[in-house]
Amino acid sequence: MTRTYTVETYGCQMNVHDSERIAGLLDEAGYLPVEPGVQADIVVFNTCAVRENADNKLYGNLSFLAPIKKANPNMQIAVGGCLAQKDQSIILKKAPYVDVVFGTHNVGSLPVLLERARIEEESQIEILEALEHFPSTLPARRFSAFTSWVSISVGCNNTCTFCIVPTLRGIEKDRPAVDILKEIRALVDQGVIEITLLGQNVNAYGVDFGDRSAFANLLRECGKIDGLERVRFMSPHPRDFTDDVIEVMANTKNVMPHLHMPLQSGSNRILQEMRRSYRTSRYLGILDRVRQAMPEAMITTDIIVGFPGETEEDFQATMDLATQAQFAAAYTYKYSIRPGTPAGAMANQVLAEVVGERYTRLHEHQQAISLGVNQRSIGTKHRALVSEVEGRRDAAQSRLTGKTEDFRLVHFDAVSEARPGDFVDLTITDASAHYLIGREEAHIETRGGDAFAAREAKVGPQPTMLGIPKVK
Ligand code: SF4
Repeated sequence: MTRTYTVETYGCQMNVHDSERIAGLLDEAGYLPVEPGVQADIVVFNTCAVRENADNKLYGNLSFLAPIKKANPNMQIAVGGCLAQKDQSIILKKAPYVDVVFGTHNVGSLPVLLERARIEEESQIEILEALEHFPSTLPARRFSAFTSWVSISVGCNNTCTFCIVPTLRGIEKDRPAVDILKEIRALVDQGVIEITLLGQNVNAYGVDFGDRSAFANLLRECGKIDGLERVRFMSPHPRDFTDDVIEVMANTKNVMPHLHMPLQSGSNRILQEMRRSYRTSRYLGILDRVRQAMPEAMITTDIIVGFPGETEEDFQATMDLATQAQFAAAYTYKYSIRPGTPAGAMANQVLAEVVGERYTRLHEHQQAISLGVNQRSIGTKHRALVSEVEGRRDAAQSRLTGKTEDFRLVHFDAVSEARPGDFVDLTITDASAHYLIGREEAHIETRGGDAFAAREAKVGPQPTMLGIPKVK
């Protein structure tokens, strides 16, 4: 009887991509992805350590699984990702029924560790302090038939005081451009039409081999790949942002007019405390130059509320900068103490109720800004890539969803047989803070739509993210 597996993913795009590799490795080892709603033989948690909430989720899910594992001794549980890299043997102390603990630098070891745990009937823990092989050489089960993540670097050389990532993912390591371009061409041959270049600090790419224009050059090379319709990247750092990237974005047809650039705070005093190595004038200067070169570009960001020592005045500076920047969306987070980070040891932590109140104020403020930005698009034309999940149609449903060039969600009533992976040209007819409403004007079949249809025909509907019922 072939054993089945499920992968539960927390955190960032890097983790989502690592989960594709975990699934690819388990496929290659002869396991099968479990059907939705069925209990899997192997449960893998790919964890995050950026916020306290991530810890609670993991340990909550592990205690949920304890009685299930007790009733089914053949079941195996594995914990990987950033929290495993940080907590290591603490996980086995808290949950001794866990079979495998593996880190961020040795995803490839999982199948061997599972087998060893089964044969030796003993928990296995393997954590490496540094990366040995670039994970991109590992097999991957891509969750999408026509879009793909492509890692260009791992790790980070920055030392933001609130962030645990450099400790867990190590210093920056860059992949050779030839390997990246080879992987992208292979993906395009498989029907992928949209890629997202991934790195903790994607625009620092090249620092490993001393070439500051390496990222702009990589984007330029992506522009020469036939069949590659859309190129995106995540996440750039304002300190390392160079004007040649703006020039390439503006002059390369398949590089999309969207920039997700974390701000974190609108107060220069707090940016200094965060050790972000830029000030608001530099950040706004980049936005101005991006908008001069691409007036249609959309900017999104990340903001932390309640960093230690944040005063009402600092917070107001963040509110004012959000007004000035006119972000299409801002992912806002409450500051969370991370043991082992400099900010975690700072004395002047902000009271939780004050953080909560500010978080709500910023959220509402940004909602109003996003609504205004989206309403200004009513009447404009956009080309949307029909999404995999919301784009799946059943008999009753003609409302589909897609992503515009500038990375905004758009719902539209389909008048054609548009498939996930196809393009539709739309006129925007309405807007909310979180999405646009469009009217379909034209349907363009793509190789992405073909790839989606071929995969559906071959293996049926794919579970988008393999998971177990979440702990509420
Ligand atoms: S740039 Fe800063 S926040 Fe981002 S991963 Fe590096 S240290 Fe963390």
